[in-house]
Formats: sequence, structure tokens, C-alpha cells
Amino acid sequence: MNKEKIKKLVREILVELGENPDREGLRETPERIADLYEEILGGYKMDSELEVQFTENSDVVVVREIQFYSMCEHHMLPFFGKVHIAYIPNKKVFGISKLVRLVEKYAKRLQIQERLTKQVADELHYMGVRGTLVLAEGDHMCMRMRGVKNNSKVMTIASRGELEKNELREHIVSMIYATKKEFTSLG
Ligand SMILES: [Zn+2]
Repeated sequence: MNKEKIKKLVREILVELGENPDREGLRETPERIADLYEEILGGYKMDSELEVQFTENSDVVVVREIQFYSMCEHHMLPFFGKVHIAYIPNKKVFGISKLVRLVEKYAKRLQIQERLTKQVADELHYMGVRGTLVLAEGDHMCMRMRGVKNNSKVMTIASRGELEKNELREHIVSMIYATKKEFTSLG
């Protein structure tokens, strides 16, 4: 990422918007945006480092509510929400912080939610788990701020291996949402 070039281009955008890029509030804006992009679009350079712990257990593991922040590639506006991951281990389980990092790796880039969901599922699948199910719910600023404004959430789901067609799949989805309702009612 060439930050100097980004700074220059942001300055040009400000001018084209009819702004004065030298006024106090905007003077540092090109630099702030270059720094921001480096941080929030840093996923391209991230390694997910899926560390493995060995287990004899092959029960489904469910990790709910991994928060993500991403940028939609159509409008370069944020979308954010939660990812839920379920998988059937094949003698290996992943640390929760590693799964959080895996989501971050694919969220911190110009993205669409469907692809984010698939990429997380694919990477777990390639790690050799028996089945994977990834569910994401996102709130898209490009839907809220432009066109027909609405507050609906986008849900996406991707499944691989044994969780692709399995009665467990329905069970997992209802488990994710049933427990969530409980939490909501607890305030
Ligand atoms: Zn968009």
C-alpha cells in the first residue's frame, strides 16, 4: 500500500468535492485516511496461523458471535456484524483467538459478505476438519445510508464437508439462535 499516493488521491477527492483541503479540519485528513486504510484493510497481509490443538473428541464445536468489521467492495462503506462458526474436528481443534484472527483476515479487505463467509469456511475445510458451517449477519452502511434506506440485516451461510447436508446443520443454526434469544432476554 503506497500511503503517499493514497494521501495525494484523497486530497484530490476533497478538492473535487468542493472542499478546501487546507482548512484546519481537513489538513490531516488525507494522512488519517491513509493510516485508516492500512489498519482496516490490512487483512490482505494477514496470516491466519490456525494453530491446532489435538483432541480425541469429534463433537461439534460452535464459536458464536465473533465480531467483524469490513468494507463493502461496491461502495467502500463499512459493513459489520457477527460470524458464528461451527465445525466437526478431525482430531484437531482451533483456539478461539485463532478463529477470531481468521475472520479478521478476510474481513479487513474490500469484501462482500457472501465471500467473507465462504472464505472462512474454505480455510477451515482445507485445514482438514470433517465439516464446517459458517453463518454471518451483517449490517451494511451502503444499505442504510443510500437508495432505499432500510435497517435489515444480511444473513449469509456457507457449509462444507459433513455439515453440508446434515441434520446437524439445522440443529446448529437453531442452537446459535436459541441461545442468543436467551442472552437477549437476560438483557
Ligand atoms: Zn455496498
